Amino acid sequence: MDLHSVTAYWQPTQLNEIGPWQPGWAWLAGGTWLFSEPQPQITTLIDMQGLGWSELEITVEGLSIGAGCVMSRLLEMPYPDRWTGITALQSAVHELASFKVQNMATIAGNLCLALPAGTFAPAMLVLGASYELLSPDGTSRQVSAATFQTGARRTILRPGEVLRKIWVPAANLEWRVNYQRLCIAAFGIALSIVVTAYNPRTHQVRVGIGACVPAPRLIEFDPVPDDNALIAALNTHIPVSDCLADELASALYRHHVTQVLMQRSLQAAIEQGNAI
Ligand SMILES: Cc1cc2nc3c(=O)[nH]c(=O)nc-3n(C[C@H](O)[C@H](O)[C@H](O)COP(=O)(O)OP(=O)(O)OC[C@H]3O[C@@H](n4cnc5c(N)ncnc54)[C@H](O)[C@@H]3O)c2cc1C
Repeated sequence: MDLHSVTAYWQPTQLNEIGPWQPGWAWLAGGTWLFSEPQPQITTLIDMQGLGWSELEITVEGLSIGAGCVMSRLLEMPYPDRWTGITALQSAVHELASFKVQNMATIAGNLCLALPAGTFAPAMLVLGASYELLSPDGTSRQVSAATFQTGARRTILRPGEVLRKIWVPAANLEWRVNYQRLCIAAFGIALSIVVTAYNPRTHQVRVGIGACVPAPRLIEFDPVPDDNALIAALNTHIPVSDCLADELASALYRHHVTQVLMQRSLQAAIEQGNAI
């Protein structure tokens, strides 16, 4: 849609061209969200396309994803066979129903938008990802995925700060993962997302939970929990009162669905290796 309040568009090729960040400015990545609804607070779009930040790099140390990297590229790369955990990120792409969004939207943009139903955030949590945040003045800081999103549409990003790079360590990509997402309509907004990662060597388990709460949560287990321990941990970390409630579902329903998805996801993550 036409954004009537936007009066300037800028595509810098160097970060230092930007200067001090001004009120009304916004970073433009894939634009799939920005152009989907009115943005009356935005007057200037700073397109990051010219900055050369679209890398997707595989090294022995891990996976590096640049700010401009489009989601669908995650499906195209030849990953090491032992990177079983990569399917958590690939599922996050598949779970976005529209191929148009998959081919335009960036992974970083999805994280910065910080929707409760964001498909990538729970996957980043269980993979122990970290983010490089870069300010227009060139200073940067490294933060963990677990601290990045603080609420619905809220992150720790400061004005003008950009999520420059996502880093996923190789060791975490060797965990077995399972991705579960439930919504009422096939292509609707998720009521709950559960991503489980299981380390077959240490028997540690990490569960990333999204959509049922305003910001994603991470629950860790060591060793593998039985059903009672799983349910107790859910009740402790996410009581029903923390769950979202709206016209789609009550908090109680979202909580219950999350419990079921946790049980399914853990079982599937563990059995995955047995099937090979
Ligand atoms: C109809 C519709 C339904 C959707 N449903 C879902 C859904 O169910 N689940 C889901 O996960 N997503 C959903 N999305 C969101 C979609 O995934 C996002 O549009 C996309 O992920 C955002 O990426 P983008 O690159 O297009 O970002 P843009 O639209 O360009 O930007 C989104 C926001 O993030 C900021 N931003 C972008 N990149 C950065 C960066 N690197 N650093 C700092 N700030 C940045 C922008 O300034 C802007 O505020 C939906 C979108 C639409 C239009």
